[in-house]
Amino acid sequence: MVTNKKLKKVIFWFLSILFLNFLHSTTKEITLYTTIQTIINSEKVLELPVYYIKGEQEKYILLKDLSKIFYATLVYYPVGKYVGFNCRGEKIYFFFDKNYFIWSNKRILLNSNVFNIRNRTFVPISILNNPEFVNIVNADVEYRQQEGLLLVNWKDTININYYVTKNEAKIEFKYPYGTQYNYDVEEQKIVLTFFSNKAQAKEFKIEGGLISKIVLYQQNGNVVSEIFLSEELQKVNIIKEENKNKVLLYLKKIQQPEQETFVPQQQIFISTQTLDVSKSENKEKTEGVENKNLTKKTNKLIVIDPGHGGEDPGAVGKYGTKEKDINLKIALLVKQKLLEEGFNVLLTREEDVFIPLVKRTEFANKNNADLFISIHCNAAEKPTGTGYGFEIYFLSEKATDADAVATEKLENEVVRFEKQTEELTKLQKLLWSMIVNEFINESSKLCSLIGKEVTNRTQQNYRGVKQAGFYVLRGAQMPAVLVECGFISNPNEELKLNRYEFQNMIANGIVAGIKRYYENNE
Ligand SMILES: [Zn+2]
Repeated sequence: MVTNKKLKKVIFWFLSILFLNFLHSTTKEITLYTTIQTIINSEKVLELPVYYIKGEQEKYILLKDLSKIFYATLVYYPVGKYVGFNCRGEKIYFFFDKNYFIWSNKRILLNSNVFNIRNRTFVPISILNNPEFVNIVNADVEYRQQEGLLLVNWKDTININYYVTKNEAKIEFKYPYGTQYNYDVEEQKIVLTFFSNKAQAKEFKIEGGLISKIVLYQQNGNVVSEIFLSEELQKVNIIKEENKNKVLLYLKKIQQPEQETFVPQQQIFISTQTLDVSKSENKEKTEGVENKNLTKKTNKLIVIDPGHGGEDPGAVGKYGTKEKDINLKIALLVKQKLLEEGFNVLLTREEDVFIPLVKRTEFANKNNADLFISIHCNAAEKPTGTGYGFEIYFLSEKATDADAVATEKLENEVVRFEKQTEELTKLQKLLWSMIVNEFINESSKLCSLIGKEVTNRTQQNYRGVKQAGFYVLRGAQMPAVLVECGFISNPNEELKLNRYEFQNMIANGIVAGIKRYYENNE
């Protein structure tokens, strides 16, 4: 029971608190303190106002101005009292009256609180010296307090890959999510303009190909690429495909009937250039796969299969790392490096999508791949599992040991995500085992080469070459291996697997293993 008197008392206090809150928020006095000259990418100048907020030690800038400097967009969540800062694909969340921001599920501390005062969000100016923030926005930031000068240089955001022969060319531009671009065809060149991006000037000359030159340069805040054709425009068929973060141009020479010959087309040049593989400054240099001869070629096709994807996350670590994401990152690095080595490469998925297990080897078979490499990360069985380290598998009907049985179970579990699981007929099983036997020696050879090359680089606990009955390897009509890059269930290894340097070492090891496999086989 609450008496009338008590109720009145409660209401009185409630109103008092409301009033005090109101007083508090309205008395936050803001005055302009100074302005900072901001130079963005050596050219654009912006006057950045700096504010003094009464009662605060630190000076503040408006989040709105910060978003102008880094071309970010702001999204307000008034109910949750936070604001999203979306910068070229990266999402940061600032919370009002809190001294941190959230990025990629991580809480990153600021020196002072973020304030939202009369619908304007203020962030402490020291954010410009916050290494994590600077890394996320992918820029070099230098704040010279004495001179009142802020120098901001974005790092490269446009990556280009190309493949050119006499009669065709594929050019791929990767850009941050949400990038707007313009596409133009002039007399004998194609011009693409990527707005609000950054790239160093580059020029790629190509001898005897359908295109003769690709240039890339910075024009104001935009990146321009010009692709020069060596044929007249009307003799070239251009197909443009685009995706969330890339555009692919496919150029093919239109063959005149009398010119048609039955001589197989010769691939004359494969190259790939990455302007910015990662934000990481200390990229692994000594471990790098040799990359002297970009023009050397092989006719080998390697299919890389990043395990899991879409609704199937694979193993999930203590810190929330999803196996599917790590698998894809490593696979993309392997692809990049194999292309540089002159191999042809296809991925079963390049995005976060679900692909049934059978479709993966089917894809490799259909494309007549020479090798099939499935990339995974492991998880130890709960609650006793304590595994860590690297292991590599090839297919067999029987698993080598109890751990291999557990891994087999884990990787095969994916089948439950597949809408229709076909029961394997005895005949199919027999056919598969025959196919397996045909490639079993080759697969095991490849396993031990990759295993050694990777663990030499990563210094991981090497659990060795194992065998197990993975569905994803079944049916592969080529040597096929499954790499378990490390244990996501081990928090230490989970953190390592998240690091670019570590992923890069693994990718280098896989590529070196493949190279040695072909050196030994020739
Ligand atoms: Zn897996």
